[in-house]
Amino acid sequence: MSSNWRFETRAVRNQIARTENREHSAPLYLTSSFVFEDAEQARALFADEIPGTIYTRFSNPNNSELVGKICSLEGTEDGIATASGMAAIFTTFGALLKAGDHLLVSRSVFGSTHQILTQILPKFGISHTYADITSLETWEAAIRPETRMCFVETPSNPALDLIDLDWLSGICRSRNVILAVDNCFATPYLQQPAKWGADLVIHSATKFIDGQGRTIGGVVTGPKDLIREIRFFARHTGPALSPFNAWILSKSLETLAVRMDRHCATAHELALWLETRPEVERVIYPFLPSHPQEKLARKQMKLGGGLVSFVVKGGLPAGRRFLDSLTMLSHTANLGDSRSIATHPASTTHSKLSEADRLAVGISPGLVRISAGLEHPVDIQADIATALAAIR
Ligand SMILES: *Cc1c(COP(=O)(O)O)cnc(C)c1O
Repeated sequence: MSSNWRFETRAVRNQIARTENREHSAPLYLTSSFVFEDAEQARALFADEIPGTIYTRFSNPNNSELVGKICSLEGTEDGIATASGMAAIFTTFGALLKAGDHLLVSRSVFGSTHQILTQILPKFGISHTYADITSLETWEAAIRPETRMCFVETPSNPALDLIDLDWLSGICRSRNVILAVDNCFATPYLQQPAKWGADLVIHSATKFIDGQGRTIGGVVTGPKDLIREIRFFARHTGPALSPFNAWILSKSLETLAVRMDRHCATAHELALWLETRPEVERVIYPFLPSHPQEKLARKQMKLGGGLVSFVVKGGLPAGRRFLDSLTMLSHTANLGDSRSIATHPASTTHSKLSEADRLAVGISPGLVRISAGLEHPVDIQADIATALAAIR
């Protein structure tokens, strides 16, 4: 491994050592445990005196390859792989927070993260406050003496609001608060939160990292001391990622850069085209001049991302009619797939929020979110054009 390899090369070439079979592509290690050479090696492994594999709940070569690659792409020291993005998030909270601690969270977070914060962490005496993603003044004021961690998503889902990570990490550092960033929407190809001072970078690998809608997986990476605590918690509570899924996800990373280039180019093209459509009230895409945070987006992100949101005229019925009129795009709750996906947050992913809460996170009744896939952009646009014509 060369330390000056570029992103694409690290994503391809950072793999585990070959076995005596001289395989070109890393093999799959489906084994629950690993054999000790002698009693002394077993003792030393359990005492953490030497590195090595013991049991797949603790570590496995496929999981280590995936984590090593993501650390090299994110610029972080160490990490663990988990069975899902939610397992990564809950393991992080469970490992680092205790009763009495407080979390500061960006208002618009993934639905299950919201459930953990509101329904599960209170059982352990851990509280949280939501801060508005675009109103920077509210953040500093919301940090309390017992605030231990700040957890944010940028860009947010589905309103694609951004947080200035450089600014926020400065605040967190000065107040001794751990900054954790859910980097699922951007992937390390577009945005490396650790470069802007974030401590922990968390992924749902299910999305763009898998990229083909096959597996569930998660990763949390960060500095060695925090990961040591997270690894202890994971080792004994068991959210380990399956080696099979780790093997898939590590191979997926080999194509992350080319896929993201295409996802982003298509999403950006769609955003520009949607702005010209009479059926569309507003288009949200971080690299559009009409996005209020375009300047920050271009500073913090390499490209505008694979998601584009827009508001159709006619509210809820028009949004639903749009979804029902698509013939190629998939109507599903996932994102980051090779297949383009359309979602209507007000009637699906965010339907459990009150109308007022939805509006507070930028979800108007006619909002539609598109995850641009890898089909030809002309075909994606044609399907959207037909569905837009149907709501006129
Ligand atoms: C999907 C998603 C998650 C949860 O990940 P799973 O792999 O489904 O558990 C967390 N955060 C964001 C931003 C997501 O999109």
